[in-house]
Amino acid sequence: MITSKLPNIGTTIFTIMSKMASDYNAINLSQGYPGFDCDPYLQDLVSEYMRKGFNQYAPMSGIPVLKERIAEKTKLVYGADFDADSEVTVVSGATEALYSAVTAVVRKGDEVILLEPAYDSYAPAVELNQGIPVYVPLTLPDFSVDWEKVKSAINERTRLIMINSPHNPCGYVWTQNDLDQLAELIKDKEIFVISDEVYEHITFDGRKHIPVFSHPLLKERTFACGSFGKTFHVTGWKIGYCLAPKDLTAEFRKIHQFLTFSTSTPMQYALADFLEDSSRYLHLQEFYERKRDLFCEGLKQTKFSFTPAQGSFFQVVSYGHLTDESDVDLAVRITKENGVASIPVSVFYHDGLDHKLLRFCFAKDESVLEKGIELLTKIKF
Ligand code: PMP
Ligand code: GLN
Repeated sequence: MITSKLPNIGTTIFTIMSKMASDYNAINLSQGYPGFDCDPYLQDLVSEYMRKGFNQYAPMSGIPVLKERIAEKTKLVYGADFDADSEVTVVSGATEALYSAVTAVVRKGDEVILLEPAYDSYAPAVELNQGIPVYVPLTLPDFSVDWEKVKSAINERTRLIMINSPHNPCGYVWTQNDLDQLAELIKDKEIFVISDEVYEHITFDGRKHIPVFSHPLLKERTFACGSFGKTFHVTGWKIGYCLAPKDLTAEFRKIHQFLTFSTSTPMQYALADFLEDSSRYLHLQEFYERKRDLFCEGLKQTKFSFTPAQGSFFQVVSYGHLTDESDVDLAVRITKENGVASIPVSVFYHDGLDHKLLRFCFAKDESVLEKGIELLTKIKF
């Protein structure tokens, strides 16, 4: 019998709810992935590179041309300079980047600040490295950061803070003030930052994503993790990148090279070509804003209350004024009775704190969103 290193962890809620959606033939607005396909040209590029024989191991840190393109994109979109060779690493999905970065930084007994609700992979990554998660709640209703609470959580054992903007599940987008506050809190301490920016190109209502590395002090301390899965509708490809200063990247790569060694070769070549045209990612905001608006307009016909998401492809709704049911019970009930699967937000809290919120993924075709709304109007409370 193995003594589990993660005794309290079971199958992720994303897998559970997607399976339930399939078992009950429900519309799946639970697990976050696009319900539509990627650009056929991107698929052609992958098969072209496969046929041309680009099928063996890629260099450990990524193929040079893709690292160049990622550095160029970062310069174009944010005006930030990263050296393609020594500061950009191609990884097998942001999940790997997060894990490698945590492993590079966290030693036994180090404390890691996690802002809750938090994406499900953060705490297990910390615990597997014998770090101690220290949870700081975000502030409802917009899930902004309470900087006084973060300050109180910091002590001499704090080694790392993990942040996420645009935020999954709640859609909060960090402001310049958030970055300034973070820099102020850690400037005299040896605290690193892992910044999960996988929804970097999905912000709404004129908001701009402000990457953590746009702040000079934070840039020196930060591993910024991105994912092509979200940007090009290819979550199943599991390919992303980590941007970090040279010394941090060197340590990051020591982990990466023994965790996955390298990432799929034909996909890397294809993405390098695809990135040449910036319009392929710069229009993602409008694309998803239309979907958010359509979904939110429809939600007005339901009994839920909500504030439109600032970013990401998730919309959180509140139902505490309608029933005392737990969010897990309600998510299960509406999957079975109404045919729409969602994610209960309590699963993003270590202690299952239930604010009576559900998360819906609106990265779906309009007809699917419309059908989903029609079904959601029929929920009995
Ligand atoms: N972070 C967040 C906030 C996410 O939502 C996701 C995926 N849904 C990831 C990381 C993981 O990204 P990837 O699929 O590239 O591993
Ligand atoms: N990040 C996706 C979500 O939030 C799920 C990814 C996964 O299933 N691990 O729904």
